[in-house]
Amino acid sequence: MKVEHVITRSPDETQELARGLLTRLPPARAVLALDGDLGSGKTCFVQGLARALGVRQPVTSPTFVMVNEYPGGSRPLYHIDLYRLRTPDETLGLGLEEYLDAPGVTVIEWAERAGDLVPADAIRIRFARRGNPDEREISISWPDRSGDSR
Ligand code: ADP
Ligand code: MG
Repeated sequence: MKVEHVITRSPDETQELARGLLTRLPPARAVLALDGDLGSGKTCFVQGLARALGVRQPVTSPTFVMVNEYPGGSRPLYHIDLYRLRTPDETLGLGLEEYLDAPGVTVIEWAERAGDLVPADAIRIRFARRGNPDEREISISWPDRSGDSR
C-alpha cells in the first residue's frame, strides 16, 4: 500500500486535490473511502470531484437519504454518507453493494462505519484538521493493485 500525505490550506485546495486525484483513478470503476471528523473536509472533497466531473447539481451531504446519485457528469458519481449509521450491520439493508460494484466513481463518507463492506481495492482517504483553521492533512492510501477484485 502506498500512502501520500497532502496538506491543503483552503477549501479550494481540497477541491483541486480531488480534481487531480480523479485523473489517477482506474477508468472503469473506483471506490473512495473517506474518513475523518465532522468538518474535516470530506463533503468539500466530494464537491471538488463533482465539479471536475462536470456535475451541475449542487452536492450536499445526504442527510436522511444515505446515497445521492449524480448522473450528469462525465462518469456517474455516487455519494454515500454513513454518518447516521451506528453499526456495520445497519449497512446491510441499504443495498450498498450495488453502488460499490457500479461503473463510475463511488465515494463513501464515514466509510469506517461500513466495516468489511468497503471493497479491498478502495482508495482510503483520511481527513484531519491541523492547528490552522483552514488547514487539513489529507492522507491517501492506494491499494497495492487498484482494479483487483474483492
Ligand atoms: P465533512 O464532510 O468532513 O463533515 P465539510 O466538507 O462538510 O466536512 O466541511 C468542511 C468545512 O471546513 C467547510 O466549512 C470548509 O469551508 C472548511 N474548510 C476550511 N479549510 C478547509 C480545507 N483546507 N479543506 C476543506 N475544507 C476546509
Ligand atoms: Mg460531510
